[in-house]
Amino acid sequence: MQEFKKVNIPEGDLIEINNGKPVIGCYPIIGYLRGDGIGIDITPVMQKVVDRAVEKAYGGTKKIAWCQLFAGLQGLQQYGSEFPDETVEAIRYLKIAIKGPYTTPIGEETHVCLHCSNQQYHSGICDKCGNDDGVCERFRSINVRFRQYLDLFACVRPVKYFKGVPAPNKYADKVDFILFRENTEDVYAGFDFECGSDTALAIIQLIKERTGRQIRTDSGIGVKPISVFGTERLVRKAIQWAVDHNLPSVTLVHKGNIMKFTEGSFCKWGYELAKREFDDVTISEKELWDKYDGKIPEGMILIKDRIADSIFQQIQTRPDEYSVLALPNLNGDYLSDAAIALVGGLGLGPGANMSDDIALFEATHGTAPKYTGMDKVNPGSLLLSAVMMLEYMSWGKAAELVIRGIEKSIIDGYVTYDLARLMKREGREDVTEVSCSGFGDSIIDRM
Ligand code: NAD
Repeated sequence: MQEFKKVNIPEGDLIEINNGKPVIGCYPIIGYLRGDGIGIDITPVMQKVVDRAVEKAYGGTKKIAWCQLFAGLQGLQQYGSEFPDETVEAIRYLKIAIKGPYTTPIGEETHVCLHCSNQQYHSGICDKCGNDDGVCERFRSINVRFRQYLDLFACVRPVKYFKGVPAPNKYADKVDFILFRENTEDVYAGFDFECGSDTALAIIQLIKERTGRQIRTDSGIGVKPISVFGTERLVRKAIQWAVDHNLPSVTLVHKGNIMKFTEGSFCKWGYELAKREFDDVTISEKELWDKYDGKIPEGMILIKDRIADSIFQQIQTRPDEYSVLALPNLNGDYLSDAAIALVGGLGLGPGANMSDDIALFEATHGTAPKYTGMDKVNPGSLLLSAVMMLEYMSWGKAAELVIRGIEKSIIDGYVTYDLARLMKREGREDVTEVSCSGFGDSIIDRM
């Protein structure tokens, strides 16, 4: 057993990874990070609902051994750092963790308060909330650092409609897909050079020498790397998810008609990977029509591709034709938010960041500081991320119970303020606005 200074590893089973799959005992040790802001409200609710679902599903023979980890405000209080090395090490050790949201300083101020997100120009007492133990120097996003330090290369976002949630799209009830967004490459890789900088000018010069073509010298320059390695590990994960969850198709989304050697290659390498590693379970669209008359044979997965701009239309007009989508970073960023909006999104979009052996599940919204500690917000995003976690652990029965509880609670009209407002606006009269913990209890009652 690895030793930690502040992390108490509880009694339970350490998770191992075998052939890319987690091996889960009856008492798996799972890391949890409360998060800042409304993390205080949603994290205990998530744990309570998950514990009750597991108990109900397995009659007490299985139980999660929760292991508390610290970052953000709690990191500062425990270690004097918002992003402690030990927390990263512990996630690496435990393999599965779930986290609430964390504050990211965005303004120019030198300091930020992790109690209330206020930004100011001095340390010590927070000008806004008056606390003296939450102000620290501004820092780079905690979420981004988790992704980078743990090489969590896949951002995984399921998008599913819940009956009773007002959604802007006519076909929202047909939406049930999962996006795999590449997390480390593309224009997000951090090669972004200011107009007039030495590097920008040198790149402009190099391109002129090599191609004879002139980029305006007053241009900022961004570099868009997309590699075989980065593409293959992402597409492999997406196809493996489709295999494990018996899903009908994987769509490679790209803008290869314009960016042939980055986005186009993403698509080409994706198809090649499917052929090489999953030939026995995948078919192409050509085979679908030539051999199977347009019907995907039982147990097979259709690999197809779509141009990025057309997929924005297709998920609105024919959402049921899509199941798993694999995307480079930028397309993935845009499409995940657009897809969540289709189903009425907001508090209900779950997510995870994954590598081949680590999975960090997370609420996808922020810390909503104005609601902190009010027991008011919707715990749905974190709860549905926990559902993903239970599925990843192959504890599907418990996952189904949580889903059933959420569905029934929405149908019965017991919802938090955000959904209550939307549902009332749609003309529904039998809506009871409940608190964050009240929503959790309502879900438990309806499992
Ligand atoms: P936010 O998501 O925190 O809040 C925007 C608004 O959405 C809130 O005012 C609230 O009305 C609503 N909202 C958010 N979560 C809700 C929930 N669970 N239930 C009901 N309503 C909810 O976004 P923001 O205000 O732009 O960001 C606040 C802080 O959170 C910033 O520091 C930002 O960097 C950070 N942030 C963190 C993450 C993350 O940790 N993954 C994601 C986004 C933003």
